[in-house]
Amino acid sequence: MKAESSSPVVEEWMVGRQREEAELEMAGVGGFNDTPATGPFGTLDHPVKIYSSFNSRIVGCKGGDDVKHRLLWFQLHAGRKHMCNECGQIFKLVTPADEGVAQAH
Ligand SMILES: [Zn+2]
Repeated sequence: MKAESSSPVVEEWMVGRQREEAELEMAGVGGFNDTPATGPFGTLDHPVKIYSSFNSRIVGCKGGDDVKHRLLWFQLHAGRKHMCNECGQIFKLVTPADEGVAQAH
């Protein structure tokens, strides 16, 4: 088994804001990860939390525990939950501001 260094080709298909985030992350800014959402199935009461340094970002969904589908990308906006058209999973964008002022009132 020979060691293969990870190549930077993944950067090529990233465009716009997503690319900006990736570049920020490579620069060590933020610490928000950029992988497709996995984990417990998102519901209205317990949406999948997507962390971002921006007010919107591209999110990829491949379904949940019971429902699998092809990778589907959509734009997620802060302050608005998004339901995946394929599996009905609910996503919510969480920004640093959301985390910081959660108990503001
Ligand atoms: Zn889905």
